[in-house]
Amino acid sequence: MVKISRRDFIKNGLTLGAAGFFLNNSLLVQGQGEKRMIVIASSNGLKATEKAMELLRQGYDPLDAVIAGVNIVEEDPEDTSVGYGGLPNEEGEVELDASVMHGPTHNAGAVAALKGIKTPSKVAKLVMERCDHALLVGEGALKFARAHGFKEENLLTDKAREIWLRWKETLSDRDNWFPPKSEKLPAEVRSFVESYGTINCLALDSHGNLAGVTTTSGLAFKLPGRVGDSPIIGAGLYVDNDVGAAGSTGRGEANILNCGSFQVVSFMAQGFSPEEACLKTLEKIVQKTKFQPHLLQSDGLPRFGLNFYAINKKGEFGSASMWSGAYYAVHDGRENKLREAAYLFKRKK
Ligand code: ASP
Repeated sequence: MVKISRRDFIKNGLTLGAAGFFLNNSLLVQGQGEKRMIVIASSNGLKATEKAMELLRQGYDPLDAVIAGVNIVEEDPEDTSVGYGGLPNEEGEVELDASVMHGPTHNAGAVAALKGIKTPSKVAKLVMERCDHALLVGEGALKFARAHGFKEENLLTDKAREIWLRWKETLSDRDNWFPPKSEKLPAEVRSFVESYGTINCLALDSHGNLAGVTTTSGLAFKLPGRVGDSPIIGAGLYVDNDVGAAGSTGRGEANILNCGSFQVVSFMAQGFSPEEACLKTLEKIVQKTKFQPHLLQSDGLPRFGLNFYAINKKGEFGSASMWSGAYYAVHDGRENKLREAAYLFKRKK
């Protein structure tokens, strides 16, 4: 199946035989049974979408493709929200969460609160393939990773440690930590408090098979042992090979309480487009949040951010964010670029 956007159709002045038809703003042209490959990711995932598409083109399984893609971000010391270099928990230790899901076998694996391993997504895949469990946490996850030959490393980079230290020094004026010397630092550090960041990456291969991965260092300065939505199948990631795939970044707690990614896929199964499914899921979450006043601003809108990403079986894709101004990465087989996500609420300037 070759998919050509309406704009390209007009621009190229393409003429169509009886096999072409419009669907959801896209023109579908019947090909030789081959489906268009798509890779999408959160906004920090352009390198991941590039890599995953390269591997899909070489015929790799879509799960191997997306894992290889996110490994680039997991291993990047400059990304303070994922893997090596991620911001630590409140005690200064980096704890990582990740999940993978493989559409063709409807199988999944995940790890949570894993310390010392740069690429938790690879461990999550081994949980799926090499043991009879779906989720391993903490010490057990680390022992499992060691058994499979993973090298333990200190994941706390100087950059992440310094951010954590400033946070700690500005927490209270009633403890024994003096405030940081520089006046400028506290404000800069404040932006990291309650800061989220994760990479989700989803792929559809040329056979129509789907897979996804979500990996993160979670909420910065979290309580030790806190597990977010990323390793929870149905919340941070869900794939139904007959319908579509969805993943999430943002406030994990809100997502866990609403099984967000499962909900997105369910909406797609009801016929909603990926973007509509993401928006409807966010609406539902907002509705349920009214029971938690501490999560609401004075105008009643949510005090947090949440983003969903989705692809359906037909190769349509979309993303929606709680607040305006969000982007997501898309490789549609022709170009790899950030696109603007749909949103529920317009952010006040
Ligand atoms: N969803 C992740 C978590 O709650 C964090 C994030 O996406 O920024 O752990």
